[in-house]
Amino acid sequence: MNGIAAKLTDTIGQIDDVVSEKSSTIGPEPTLFVILVTSTLNLTLLARGKFTPTGMFFMATVIDGKASAAELRKTLAVDVAALKRDHGLVPGLAVVLVGEDPASQVYVRNKGKQTVEVGMESFEHRLPADTEETVLLELIDTLNNDDSVHGILVQLPLPKHIDEFKVINAVSHDKDVDGFHLVNVGRLNTDGGGVVPCTPLGCLMMLKSTLGDLSGLHAVIVGRSNIVGKPMAALLTQANCTVTIAHSRTRDLETLCKSADILVAAVGRPQMVSGSWIKPGATVIDVGINRIEQDGKTRLVGDVDYDSAAEVAAAITPVPGGVGPMTIACLLHNTVQQAKRQKGIS
Ligand code: NAP
Repeated sequence: MNGIAAKLTDTIGQIDDVVSEKSSTIGPEPTLFVILVTSTLNLTLLARGKFTPTGMFFMATVIDGKASAAELRKTLAVDVAALKRDHGLVPGLAVVLVGEDPASQVYVRNKGKQTVEVGMESFEHRLPADTEETVLLELIDTLNNDDSVHGILVQLPLPKHIDEFKVINAVSHDKDVDGFHLVNVGRLNTDGGGVVPCTPLGCLMMLKSTLGDLSGLHAVIVGRSNIVGKPMAALLTQANCTVTIAHSRTRDLETLCKSADILVAAVGRPQMVSGSWIKPGATVIDVGINRIEQDGKTRLVGDVDYDSAAEVAAAITPVPGGVGPMTIACLLHNTVQQAKRQKGIS
């Protein structure tokens, strides 16, 4: 019996090590372990989690995007200070907003605030909604030639009379921090260089800090947009996942999702993916941001039904507080990368 007790103590110790290592980067500490004692006395961790006040077993680890973003900004602030000290370089990010879309105004304000907080320069250009395309293209040309600007972001969506594709590709690919320029899209899908779109980059960082090596895992991405679904697929392919992209014409989406070790939902449909679509133990990244009405109030929800998904998944990003904060932190990361590239600093 002493041997069994020693083995049990040893195994729980190892589990504790894994859990404390993970919880320092990804979220709150679980409070209960479920351990299977097999006939050969091998001890296997089946699940970790806690009982909710209603008595339900709650398994998922919360992937805390807010905390990860704060960590990334801390690292960037150190990088930026070193660039200033060693090279006299202060990375500058110019954000261009056309029109008065309320959500875009909030994003632009947050981006500007966080840019300054990490020690970079922030330049904001607000243009009226009826700005002519030529005027916007002239501004982009000026910013392309401004040495104090290392990154240019044109907030999307643009008013209908402006050609988004033309504007995105008018930004110099060296100053593109969204990774939407054709050169950067091409590089992501070929040599893996260039600048990577912020939202999928943030998702990849959280997946790696949660799971470590992603090799061989089956990743299902629901959504094939140019800004999330497609670049996410390219990144996960590079990370050696087996990737399936699903969209509005995909047949039997539920069964497909249930086969995923990693499920990324980027659909724009509130709480579409329920817990019954998720393979037990999967890791779920919820990119969706949807505002819904509930009890006379509005609140933000993702594309995943969080409560039912969290009972099945091993780890999940919340909305808000998951992918959103990491997106802005990755924008700052891309700006620093572009500033370094432009000055030939590795
Ligand atoms: P999008 O351009 O509208 O693309 C949505 C994708 O979902 C499309 O590929 C569409 O398929 C697919 N789809 C729609 N209905 C479907 C259904 N019933 N079943 C399966 N697939 C379906 O959206 P997006 O720009 O990628 O954004 C997706 C979500 O992420 C939105 O909620 C957006 O607000 C959010 N978002 C969040 C961040 C962040 O920082 N957290 C950043 C960007 C976007 P088809 O191609 O066949 O039409």
